[in-house]
Amino acid sequence: MKTVYFFGDGKADGSASDKNMLGGKGANLAEMTILGIPVPPGFTISTDVCAYFMQTGKYPTELTNEVENNLRQIENIMGQTFGDCNSPLLVSVRSGARQSMPGMMETVLNIGLTSQTIPGLIQKSGDERFVYDAYRRLITMYADVVMEKATDFETREGEGIREKLETHLENIKLKKKVKKDADLDVEDLKCLCKNFKETIKAHLGKDFPDDPYTQLWEGVGAVFKSWNGKRATHYRNIEKIPSEWGTAVNIQAMVFGNMGKDSATGVAFTRNPATGENKFYGEWLPNAQGEDVVAGLRTPNPLNESSRIGDSKNLLTLEKNMPTIYAKLDVIQRRLEAHYNDMQDIEFTIQNGELWMLQTRIGKRNGVAAIRIAMEMLESGMIEEKTAIMRVKPGHLDEIMHPTLNTDIEKSFPILTTGLPAGPGGASGQIVFTADDAENWHNNGKNVILVRKETSPEDVHGMYASEAILTARGGMTSHAALVARGWGKCCVVGCSEIQISAIDKTLSSNRTILKEGDWITLNGSTGNVYEGKIPLKAANLQSNSFFKKLMELADKYKVLGVRTNADSPIEAKQALEFGAQGIGLCRTEHMFFNPERIMSMREMIIAENEEDRRKAIMELLSHQKSDFYKILKTMAPYPVTIRLLDPPLHEFLPQENSQIQELAQALKMSRNKLDARIEHLHELNPMLGHRGCRLGISYPEITEMQARAIFEATAELIMEGITPYPEVMVPLVGSVAEFIHQRKIIDSMANQVQDEKRVKIDYLVGTMIELPRACATADEIAKEAQFFSFGTNDLTQTTFGLSRDDIGSFLPDYLEQNILAGDPFQSIDEDGVGSLITMGVEKGRSVNATLKIGICGEHGGDPESIHFFQKSGIDYVSCSPFRVPIARLVAAQARAG
Ligand code: PEP
Ligand code: MG
Repeated sequence: MKTVYFFGDGKADGSASDKNMLGGKGANLAEMTILGIPVPPGFTISTDVCAYFMQTGKYPTELTNEVENNLRQIENIMGQTFGDCNSPLLVSVRSGARQSMPGMMETVLNIGLTSQTIPGLIQKSGDERFVYDAYRRLITMYADVVMEKATDFETREGEGIREKLETHLENIKLKKKVKKDADLDVEDLKCLCKNFKETIKAHLGKDFPDDPYTQLWEGVGAVFKSWNGKRATHYRNIEKIPSEWGTAVNIQAMVFGNMGKDSATGVAFTRNPATGENKFYGEWLPNAQGEDVVAGLRTPNPLNESSRIGDSKNLLTLEKNMPTIYAKLDVIQRRLEAHYNDMQDIEFTIQNGELWMLQTRIGKRNGVAAIRIAMEMLESGMIEEKTAIMRVKPGHLDEIMHPTLNTDIEKSFPILTTGLPAGPGGASGQIVFTADDAENWHNNGKNVILVRKETSPEDVHGMYASEAILTARGGMTSHAALVARGWGKCCVVGCSEIQISAIDKTLSSNRTILKEGDWITLNGSTGNVYEGKIPLKAANLQSNSFFKKLMELADKYKVLGVRTNADSPIEAKQALEFGAQGIGLCRTEHMFFNPERIMSMREMIIAENEEDRRKAIMELLSHQKSDFYKILKTMAPYPVTIRLLDPPLHEFLPQENSQIQELAQALKMSRNKLDARIEHLHELNPMLGHRGCRLGISYPEITEMQARAIFEATAELIMEGITPYPEVMVPLVGSVAEFIHQRKIIDSMANQVQDEKRVKIDYLVGTMIELPRACATADEIAKEAQFFSFGTNDLTQTTFGLSRDDIGSFLPDYLEQNILAGDPFQSIDEDGVGSLITMGVEKGRSVNATLKIGICGEHGGDPESIHFFQKSGIDYVSCSPFRVPIARLVAAQARAG
């Protein structure tokens, strides 16, 4: 097999289309090379080699030769030789998977520095300090990545080799009374390198290798192994990236941003990733290596005027400092964006006044930015409508619907500190200082904010579990910022004024000291941090014109209707604003918990004969009628599907002793008798018990009352000149006979009300399809029902025979052992529940070709499930109001993609 792919000097073996084989980084390095953009020469070891290495623990036999031949090609271009005493070539070894996994895998820079090559490099560069600075960086990275992480050497948090070496660095700075690494002189660095090597030997029991080829091969192996490292595995699970993909390894000639005043390094985006504004945006550091920007150890300078923000406001821009190079970079960034037709995230290095591009990739962006970028690129003709629709991910919409701080209240809170606004919206939470604590507290139902000096990829599980992330160091492209932006999480980075002690578990700012568990609030849009809890307010989508445009575009492409599940006029109004085309499920049971009504409800349940039951139930009629009146009015002329009472009756009964006592008094019933009646109503399996249409069959007066309330409200609205459209829905039907029984009552109520009020009412009577038997006999049911609505919550429960309320206790075991790919109550199980839906649709339509069919289970708002529903031929999905925009977008994507 071909194992290695070269790029350099305007030619490359691969291109951007080879991502699967070369990983994103390798494919784009090849593409940039072909485009004639200055890229240091190098080669990519393919992902197939990683897979082979993972399976066999060895490399394919041809790899050694291919690597050496390609190394010769780099040497020819650079005029340097790997391991040479006079003119040594140094290389970087970097990971690069198909899909970007920022910082999750390893990188080793400056490979090839040894006691043999150091003098040669000093002579060539004329800068001994630079060489020892590069050497101490190589030793640190190599010890951490190759000698420790890749060897399963277990260390406790804070006790790894990297921390030990960094302690030496801090100590020497203290001793020399300097603040920055750059203030250490060559003798300090030499001494540091010596101490590093001794510490490595003492701690890891091995010498730091002094042979360039050992460094290279061990480096390659460590990068491959990092694919299965803890944090990469974590990230893959969260992002659903298949573990078989493997990573590629890029070996590339080193260029140095730390070679003096005319050298620099930076990271930039072709558009602002936080707002979407079409302005080149980035950060740079003079005289530094790339890791300094990404690791957030120094506050980076703004690239240009439009990148000035927070702490970096007054620092020198690249635009001013190196105008010619900035102009070149600007040309390249425009070219890259136009070439890829998408916002790019680029890395560059300037070595002695010469610009080199080290990476380009599709830039991660937050929700606000994603929508704006897609709509502006569409407007400018860069992309077409279908592409614009596909560019916005469901998560982006979810994110912009996230709450922000209530600004009026925020104004009255003193600012604790300010950092860079790296993630959207606002969040409040209790402070924790380690990723593990964040996860544990979160699992115990707490809202937490993870506070770190800076985050590292080791922290991803804790970051995921947190409401928000706060770091003392780092810029807008630091690890914390990138990860948070990817997830749409609130995040503030680079709060340089605060001191964090992970050991004492304290955060201090000026005179305020906060400890673990204290509440703080972050404003991820301004970077402000507050002590305490500030109320959040819902997002105001209506003022976002890009969002409106996107939604209009989505509606142009989607064929699936989108309705909402709403039980109140407020929810209905909200859903209408979000673009719902009706109510697909109005659950009536919630209406009975109101204190004014619960007593009548309880009297009805306790009643032992029809007369008492009818009396109690008729007390509810006027309440129900006013509920339906308001909802039908809000939604008119859109349809409102009203479901008859569904849950087991005992859910309405009092639980506490005092409440039972009160009920006994109200009913003038002895306590013993009431206790016996409650006992009698108790069911062993209430989810499979006396619920759904079974209630209306045992107690037809419940159906009568609800149907009358619906039709009286409808009649009143018609008389007011409004055109309401009720659809009465019978729950939990398993056989057509049940449906016929209920429909007879509903139709007879409709006739009575029409006669009484002398109005003609348009309405439908249909059923939920939420039992396997209903799917199997859907053709029988469709002869009688005017619509179907799949209740995929109960259908999932009854198809799997899994209790929807209890699955939480054993689902983790199923997921861990890959027995289930995901929670079937979240995304539809296509093979099982999905095939029952397909059967139900086919059978239903076989007898009634125009049968209206919807989905009203939670899956109606789930992006993955919506793609399936689009294929299965249903007419609409119904979901909670806040999922409506997502459902509209995904319905369009299911069609456009
Ligand atoms: C369903 O079962 O999918 C449904 C929508 O009804 P509920 O969740 O109220 O049982
Ligand atoms: Mg149900």
